[in-house]
Amino acid sequence: MQLIDTIIANKCYGRRNLFQIIMWQEISKIGKKLVDHGLVESHFGNISVRIGNKMLITRSGSALDEITENSVVEVEIEGTSGLDLIASSEAIVHRAIYKDTSALAIIHAHCQFAVTLSLLADSDSNSIVPVDSEGQYFLHEIPIVKGGIGTPELARNTARALSEHKGAIVYSHGTFATGKILEEAYVVTTQIEHSCTIKYYYDLARK
Ligand SMILES: [Zn+2]
Repeated sequence: MQLIDTIIANKCYGRRNLFQIIMWQEISKIGKKLVDHGLVESHFGNISVRIGNKMLITRSGSALDEITENSVVEVEIEGTSGLDLIASSEAIVHRAIYKDTSALAIIHAHCQFAVTLSLLADSDSNSIVPVDSEGQYFLHEIPIVKGGIGTPELARNTARALSEHKGAIVYSHGTFATGKILEEAYVVTTQIEHSCTIKYYYDLARK
């Protein structure tokens, strides 16, 4: 019923097409799952999907568990636009990932154990190797990338890492995970956080 109401509303006001409606609702569903499952607090992340040469991305300050049609904004991938002002401050990273990889969906999340392990990693280490068999099988290793929030350096480093991996951890910050659909990026996010949690406790218990 909600979908039908939204379609009617958008038909009247001409704001979004059917695909955009489906996509913001998918972003909303995944955002709520991220928060409900304790992967992030409401405001600690952002989500996007690629639609042709544009991306639909959560707005700056959006609560991931309360996303509505007005919480997302569509911006160009190749260039910037005035709407970048209200898009997530990390849109620059999403844009670089879409340019350099085949990703169609991206989740960025400030997962606690992923951030903690990036801080604990040796300063010369540029990846985390999972100790659990599932993490080893699916992720092999998790790159750690560096760069300030919303900077070209971070965008470049993250896109480079994700051209060879499905997920990466930004040092002291959070994860970026990709997929063909948002559900896939969600699974990668949960796999990274799961593997980092296991490794944290494993390393702690062995001390
Ligand atoms: Zn962030």
